[in-house]
Amino acid sequence: MSNTTPNSPNASAFFSINTELNVAICRQCERGVRKGNIFTHLASTNHRVSQTVARYIANCVQQWDHIEDQPNISDCYDFGQV
Ligand SMILES: [Zn+2]
Repeated sequence: MSNTTPNSPNASAFFSINTELNVAICRQCERGVRKGNIFTHLASTNHRVSQTVARYIANCVQQWDHIEDQPNISDCYDFGQV
């Protein structure tokens, strides 16, 4: 991992994937986050990730194309913290 730089945050360090629910799971607060909410989630006061990093992570997660928006998963996770 000698070529890992602080300017290249690893999206998988922030989120894991729940393949059953097809959502990203925030490792810090263990909350299910849909792709469209990744940036907002990271940049919120919950985590205070810089906007630059939050945008990078959001872009990475959105390339995990096996995650899909599925409205019914809101029964299991709270997506309302915008
Ligand atoms: Zn979180």
